[in-house]
Amino acid sequence: MPTEIRAGSMRDVVCWFLLKRELAAWTGSGHSLLLWWRDDDGRGPSERLNRLIALAEQQQVPLTLAIIPDGKSAALAEQLAQSPSVAVIQHGVDHINRTAVIGGPKSELLPEWDKFEIARRVDLGWRAIRQIPNAVPVFAPPWNANHPALEEALRLAGFVGFSGRDEWPIKGQFLPSANVHIDLMRWKDGARFLGAPRFLRRFTRICRKQRHARAWSKPIGVLTHHLDHDSASWSFLEKFLIAMKADPAVKWCAMRDLISDGRLERAKTRALATRYRRQSAPVDRAAAGAGVASGSPEGSVDALP
Ligand SMILES: [Zn+2]
Repeated sequence: MPTEIRAGSMRDVVCWFLLKRELAAWTGSGHSLLLWWRDDDGRGPSERLNRLIALAEQQQVPLTLAIIPDGKSAALAEQLAQSPSVAVIQHGVDHINRTAVIGGPKSELLPEWDKFEIARRVDLGWRAIRQIPNAVPVFAPPWNANHPALEEALRLAGFVGFSGRDEWPIKGQFLPSANVHIDLMRWKDGARFLGAPRFLRRFTRICRKQRHARAWSKPIGVLTHHLDHDSASWSFLEKFLIAMKADPAVKWCAMRDLISDGRLERAKTRALATRYRRQSAPVDRAAAGAGVASGSPEGSVDALP
């Protein structure tokens, strides 16, 4: 065996050992480490999505897909009807970076948009995915992009939660959050697996920090992107799921565990009604100009280009 492979394997073994030791400390504390799994950027059925869902089902780990609402959801609804343990949340309004021309961090949401404009676009996306079984109106913004009006817009649009990175600046004034903390991939210079030692060290650090803070009820979110996985990502993901499923310290959470029952009841109602009012004058004028009947939220949303 080449020396560098042997050295890599030894490093992996040490990192797994340190993680197991950390998990043993959780067991010793009498508390469960709560984990949840979010996968981003799905749009519709694909071989890779089949592989992801098969992996989740084989390991009996609940999976939440953050889906870009771009119109391929009918086929996805059909597929996910066979997979009741897979939940769906909304990943943005269309995943288009609109701030590229003005510079600054990537975002779908232009700075000049107010809460009503954002609510209208969020709602349009929700209408594209709401028929998918286990779709929950929880919003995960692409690139973790914040906007000062986003959280209130989500509330106006009837959303019951949001999901960003742990460091996301929105503090949950209106809505509860279920955030992700560690990404399987690295993105600089092309998407690829983060690497086992780096992932395991980072994950162990997060677990330890949470244990020291006695944050027993805060779930740690693991983020994947099935369309970008290379073979190393797939094989590590499987190994990680098997190890975490087998460890007595770990309890995997489904989306329904992260959002309270009361909010999920509202989510069911949410599928039947648009909750925000058409108070955004510039948007309504545009809708009226497009021949949309005034006073109809349906018309307002349908008038979007
Ligand atoms: Zn994305």
